[in-house]
Amino acid sequence: MKFNAPRGTNDILPPDTLKWQYIEKKTHQIFSNYNYQEIRTPIFEYTGLFQRGIGEVTDIVEKEMYTFEDKGGRSITLRPEGTASVIRSFLENKIYGQAQPTKYYYIGPMFRYERPQSGRFRQFHQLGVEAIASNDPALDAEIISLGMRLLQGFGLDDLELHLNSVGCADCRPPYVDKLKNYLNEHQDQLCDNCKSRIDRNPLRVLDCKNKSCQSVIKDAPKITDNLCDSCTDHFDEVQEYLDILNLDYLINPLLVRGLDYYTNTAFEIKDNALGAQNTVFGGGRYNGLAEEIGNRDLPGIGFALGIERLLLSLEAKDIQLPVESGVDLYITVIGDKAKKESFKLLDQLRNQDFRTEMDYLDRGVGSQMKSADRMNAEYTIIIGEDELNNNSATIRNMKSGDEKEIQLSNLLEEMKKLVDKEDI
Ligand SMILES: [Zn+2]
Ligand SMILES: [Zn+2]
Repeated sequence: MKFNAPRGTNDILPPDTLKWQYIEKKTHQIFSNYNYQEIRTPIFEYTGLFQRGIGEVTDIVEKEMYTFEDKGGRSITLRPEGTASVIRSFLENKIYGQAQPTKYYYIGPMFRYERPQSGRFRQFHQLGVEAIASNDPALDAEIISLGMRLLQGFGLDDLELHLNSVGCADCRPPYVDKLKNYLNEHQDQLCDNCKSRIDRNPLRVLDCKNKSCQSVIKDAPKITDNLCDSCTDHFDEVQEYLDILNLDYLINPLLVRGLDYYTNTAFEIKDNALGAQNTVFGGGRYNGLAEEIGNRDLPGIGFALGIERLLLSLEAKDIQLPVESGVDLYITVIGDKAKKESFKLLDQLRNQDFRTEMDYLDRGVGSQMKSADRMNAEYTIIIGEDELNNNSATIRNMKSGDEKEIQLSNLLEEMKKLVDKEDI
């Protein structure tokens, strides 16, 4: 019998887990600077939530959800994204009764039945934010700058911000009609996929990469020329706030999000060095979503970022995250008595937050030193019967080779002097 992890999933192993921990730590830190608080929602929800909250005619809902019936006969779906759950939770827990806006973030696994390929898995991880119950354009700019800061914090610096407004329930439908008419007039130049989208979801045509479609799209009516006054004002103000932060952006009228509950601001952050697949992540306003899943008129804005995708971007740019595995001290032991004494010393050191290790395979001194080397020990000390009898041992700095004779009973004090705990 031999088991493999299910297709499209993978084990995240050490030392890679250190990178994940770093990303998570940095995320907590940066989000807390902006006063976003972490929310943890269930990994699975009732299927209906995603059907309403993502949209029936999306690829996610039509093809990619892990949906099953539980033993009670309920239709359950492993969450394919985070926003619907966050809004569901906000409504269910009546958070709208508290002081607003509510600023949440989340980090965790999501599930989509997709064809696995580089950077795309069936279990993948997202971190995301949602700012709920305010339509203030300053919040749009805050969310965008937060996303940029996050990426910059990981060392991505060749970023390009694409910005658009997708209008609202008043100005978008007339625009969509206009677009439909235009696309119908140019049907013969569109790919089959786009032809079938004209009625179902014409906005999706705007991001078709087909050459012939592109030539049609180039002259298609633009949403930015068809916004109502209130959407124009909102869009202008978002730009004003971005200007205040000195954030450069590019107005991209082709940047649309197909579903009705998306409103106003849409954005994508691209990394120029990444070639064709250069969108690192995107987000936008969804003022109609709470109405869709909870009959409540509540604005919201957010973004989600795939952690696997982020790691690929870092790899593509050869950016090393500042992570280091290792121990402060490796105790090499000779003999059973020394092992037991060392075991006690380890405990005292660990209790004072020193990272320490010893041998558990009864190996010789040479093998133990190799282990110490492999696990990046900063210091080693050899303890045998002689050292115990004399209360004296030599502590060695593995990098410099410097050695120091110390009293064994003073090991903890010596370590406090040697290792800068701030670095741990
Ligand atoms: Zn509008
Ligand atoms: Zn097309």
